[in-house]
Amino acid sequence: MSEILWGAPVAQAIRESLTERVASLQSAGCTPCLALLRCGEDPGALFYERSATKACDKVGIRLKSIRLPWTTGTAELLRELERVNNDPDVHGILVLRPLPRRIDTERVFGALRPEKDVDGITVPSLARTFVGRGTGFAPCTAEACLAMLDHYGIRLEGANVAIIGRSLIVGRPLSMLLSARDATVTLCHSKTRALPAICRGADILVSTAGRAALVDERFVHSGQIILDVGVNESFDGKICGDVAFDAVSPLVRGISPVPGGVGTVTTMLLARHVVEAAEAQAQL
Ligand code: NAD
Repeated sequence: MSEILWGAPVAQAIRESLTERVASLQSAGCTPCLALLRCGEDPGALFYERSATKACDKVGIRLKSIRLPWTTGTAELLRELERVNNDPDVHGILVLRPLPRRIDTERVFGALRPEKDVDGITVPSLARTFVGRGTGFAPCTAEACLAMLDHYGIRLEGANVAIIGRSLIVGRPLSMLLSARDATVTLCHSKTRALPAICRGADILVSTAGRAALVDERFVHSGQIILDVGVNESFDGKICGDVAFDAVSPLVRGISPVPGGVGTVTTMLLARHVVEAAEAQAQL
């Protein structure tokens, strides 16, 4: 029988580690604050905003919500961003995606101050993740995968890890974080040949493709750890991951569910980044 790798205990441990740090900041007259910028009412953006809000509330982080219409243009969004960039009471900024098509995303992300980039989307943050030094934070989801593996005592040194998906917010930064921990990583994508065989050969499989039921019995073996990062809508309208959970879970050593897995940890790490940003900006 496989172990279900729930995200809640991992998030709880991170939350507990933050209590004292937030108290120290508050006694120094600084309440950590996250600004959330959202254009329109996209369900994915709303879902992430709700989860981030819940995590921040639990830790004692103040939220500043900036809601703009879907018709917002680049100049207007840049103006709002500039305001929170320069606001000394705002320590972290989260620009919720998707952004309207007309927005020049690169310009917007490029304008975000790296020390407030708590979701790790700017080039300096990615450079820090890849090089190991500099300003910024690792993308929360990539870091959440590592936090899950560490919490459940999964050995990374020498482990073969297959990652499905090479986006800049999950797959690629995760490959760097794992490589820095002495894992051997195979980064797969939509053009990868013999994907099931590559995945089956791994000790740890992380799926971040965003394709419901992509990972089935052909991709796995007993003794394997599976992290499911995908968030999809199944044919019956329910949230599901990339893994065909019912078919795969009896066949492996451990598997994270969707919902209730990596996503729960992602938003608590976002909260930790806000606390770290506040500490750095308050020079504590
Ligand atoms: P993306 O579309 O930018 O990247 C998807 C990647 O998967 C690409 O590299 C693509 O080549 C690969 N891919 C797609 N279909 C494939 C297939 N059939 N075979 C092999 N590779 C395939 O997506 P993203 O922004 O990285 O997000 C990926 C998924 O992770 C989405 O479902 C998203 O909702 C979810 N997500 C979850 C969290 C979380 O905290 N749990 C956070 C961010 C994203």
